[in-house]
Amino acid sequence: MKDVSAYREELKIYNSMSGRKEKFEPLTPGHVGMYVCGPTVYSHVHLGNLRTFVSFDVIYRYLTHLGYKVRYVRNITDAGHLEEDSDEDKISKKARLEKLEPMEIVQKYTVEFHRILDKINNLPPSIEPTATGHIIEQIEATKEILRKGLAYEVNGSVYFDVVKYNKEVDTYGKLSRRKIEELIANTRDLEGQDEKRNPQDFALWKKAKPKHIMRWPSPWGEGFPGWHLECTVMSTKYLGEQFDIHGGGMDLKFPHHECEIAQGKALSGKDPVRYWMHANMLTMNGKKMSKSTGNTILPMEIFTGDNDKFSKPYAPDTVRFFFLQAQYRNVLDLSEDALRSAEKGLKRLREAYALIDRLPESGEKGTFDVEDWRDKLYAAMNDDFNTPVAVAHLFEGAKAVHKIASGEDRITAADKKLLKDTFRTFMFDILGLPEESGEGACTQNLEGVIRVLIDLRNEARKMKNWALADKIRDELARLGIKLKDAKDGTTYEIE
Ligand code: AMP
Ligand code: ZN
Repeated sequence: MKDVSAYREELKIYNSMSGRKEKFEPLTPGHVGMYVCGPTVYSHVHLGNLRTFVSFDVIYRYLTHLGYKVRYVRNITDAGHLEEDSDEDKISKKARLEKLEPMEIVQKYTVEFHRILDKINNLPPSIEPTATGHIIEQIEATKEILRKGLAYEVNGSVYFDVVKYNKEVDTYGKLSRRKIEELIANTRDLEGQDEKRNPQDFALWKKAKPKHIMRWPSPWGEGFPGWHLECTVMSTKYLGEQFDIHGGGMDLKFPHHECEIAQGKALSGKDPVRYWMHANMLTMNGKKMSKSTGNTILPMEIFTGDNDKFSKPYAPDTVRFFFLQAQYRNVLDLSEDALRSAEKGLKRLREAYALIDRLPESGEKGTFDVEDWRDKLYAAMNDDFNTPVAVAHLFEGAKAVHKIASGEDRITAADKKLLKDTFRTFMFDILGLPEESGEGACTQNLEGVIRVLIDLRNEARKMKNWALADKIRDELARLGIKLKDAKDGTTYEIE
């Protein structure tokens, strides 16, 4: 049987920069540096944001499972992210409107963000740096880019000179495959842009207007750092001038990541990132989930059922399982049908997993080839983290479990152990489903107990003890556990 480290050699990652799947080879053997753009903590994260963070959690978990020492950095944007078509910081604006300290806004939404990620069973990143904790580094980076002649100061703000960079250093727009001439031609004239030499230039440092609450002293007067710069500064501070993986949602490719590349290359002469990974969008009714259009639902609204879109609540593990139904690079649409089927599917997998321990062991091999199945699970994840294919294989495994349980197939003791280990590794360690289901008291133990009762009832029926069989069924029904008899066995539903 193949060792986990052997599978590691087969991992392929789709690199948005090259536009194809590439063999994954980290800069330092055995180590992976990964940076993912975190949330701007000025309001609630919606389910779309959550999908992106779950996608990268699965990637982090899989890389770790393969034996890599992963340093996973995901920032908190608590300054510098401007409102669309304005030069006011999102957090500063919210603080002004709500008459709160900006750091009260930041604290409130950071705490909530962590709570939601915890509920959905994401692992915390290794480092979670904040923009406001790295003002000095951002000022230093701005100075350095100025010194290199790739930025200019106007009236207390410092802008990155995109045209000069494009001429002297590297093509600007190479990640999103945009041409600078077209970009310049297509940009609207926004407020404050008259200061810039070119509309495509972006702020490294912004002068703070009098009403702006968030401000720090700098060589150019009081101001605040540009959003793009924080990610450059924090990624390279903790992962080096060049690092392995940079992730984020598709919508950050341009201009955010394009600017990060330009800043990084201006500073060190190197392309900062080796593998660019972009997660695709969650849609609802076919439209991108987005705060600006109001087409959103919050994670807690789904978990509690307190919303007017769905007929009932869906537990965090169901939502997580729903996310896994699409590969991270594909669009995923949220609907009641999709949530319902995720709920049913996850239940089926949990039931099968709980049943494995109780499968009879045979001296002879059965028809289900467990090693081959395990190979396929790794192959799916090695193919650019293809979770839907991995999930489909888990369902194959579940089918085999039921066949063996019903006596249609058999399994050796060694295969049974491998089956269980593989199930556990993929469901819980890699896909990150919680070992206990989120349905209140319905823990794995309870599922096991129900199975025992179903077996006892079957024995009672075999002995024609109908009274006992009915008593078991009725008592369970009283507790909201409904048994359903079918040709291939008894299943149950918890109300
Ligand atoms: P923000 O707080 O707006 O910077 O977004 C945090 C992360 O969520 C970014 O990586 C975005 O690309 C991502 N994101 C935003 N909207 C969606 C969506 N509808 N589906 C998936 N990811 C999204
Ligand atoms: Zn970023």
